[in-house]
Amino acid sequence: QFKRIPLPKQSKDELYQMGETFNNMIELLEVNYEKQGQFISNASHELKTPLTVIESYASLLKRRGKDQPELFDESIQAIHSEAIRMKDLTQQLLLLARNEQHWLLEKEEIHLNEVVKEAVRSFEKAYNREVELKQETEVVINADLQRFKQLFFILMDNARKYSEERIVVKISSSKDQAVVSVTDRGIGIPSGELEKVYDRFYRVDKARSRKTGGFGLGLSLAKEIADAMEATIALESVEGLGTTAKISLPLSDSH
Ligand code: ADP
Repeated sequence: QFKRIPLPKQSKDELYQMGETFNNMIELLEVNYEKQGQFISNASHELKTPLTVIESYASLLKRRGKDQPELFDESIQAIHSEAIRMKDLTQQLLLLARNEQHWLLEKEEIHLNEVVKEAVRSFEKAYNREVELKQETEVVINADLQRFKQLFFILMDNARKYSEERIVVKISSSKDQAVVSVTDRGIGIPSGELEKVYDRFYRVDKARSRKTGGFGLGLSLAKEIADAMEATIALESVEGLGTTAKISLPLSDSH
């Protein structure tokens, strides 16, 4: 708690206004402090869970591994998958931190059709999932390629995690915007949660998310990347039917 300047009740002169501005700034600082504290506590908690699992399996192996070799497979599998979970979380945290440092955008001319096609192909291979690519138009944008790929990947990854059927990716344009949409026919997001999914560490269903591997950081990072590159993200979803995530970016002037 920071100290506020006591404001006189009667006069609202310049001094009063300065005091008021100062108090507003204090207010913002406090909110920031609280958010940061919350973030660190969430992150530590998420790291602690896999660490606890790793620790208990390791100590089980230490105590009984020699006498009961049948424990080996289960333990190593658990240790391995929890270590991967920790690695994923660390990677996402690093991306968040890097984005916060406002790294310079490296804008270049991107032929979206090619880039998306390539990304979709490697996605299909990596996850053995079928993706339908609809290309309504050829679009060219001026943007940071790495960031666009990160953004696109987060949306594809969510479609993969929360649906089983084929994912549809569409490239189109409207007015001066290029639009890339990712549609899945998965579990969808309840309408009351649509606003909240952008919050850091927010997950609609924590228990289920733990199985699918999410930490609730993907969309918050996507939103931050989008803001940095003058793009917008929009989610449309019907619970039980599926979700469409749309990225809109300004079309390149020269095209
Ligand atoms: P996570 O890594 O947990 O997927 P995100 O920030 O990307 O984190 O998403 C937050 C939450 O929003 C998810 O935990 C999930 O509950 C919900 N969500 C996001 N995308 C989808 C989707 N395509 N279908 C259903 N639910 C989704």
